[in-house]
Amino acid sequence: MKLNIICNCGNHLELNPTTVGNHAYFSNQSHGKFRVDTDIEIDQTVYLDDTVVSTLAETEDNSTIAEILEDQIIDMVSTDKSLNELRFTCSNCGDYINLTSF
Ligand SMILES: [Zn+2]
Repeated sequence: MKLNIICNCGNHLELNPTTVGNHAYFSNQSHGKFRVDTDIEIDQTVYLDDTVVSTLAETEDNSTIAEILEDQIIDMVSTDKSLNELRFTCSNCGDYINLTSF
């Protein structure tokens, strides 16, 4: 598979995969013909576990509190991320296309 980006002004870029796994390295192949911008949304939610909160409340030693947090904090944080928009902008004339609704 290959990806062609063709601007109305005639600027053109063909992206070809170059590695196992079909990775096409944009910066190596674009030679500045187009610019890429992304809109990535990251939502983090913290779910406090009652048992951990109780244990922390009963602990006065800072190093013990740090140990508890280091062990448990990852399990209490949920991270969701999504790519909302991928924009190709022509370096020649400034026209652009937004890819969205993935
Ligand atoms: Zn253009």
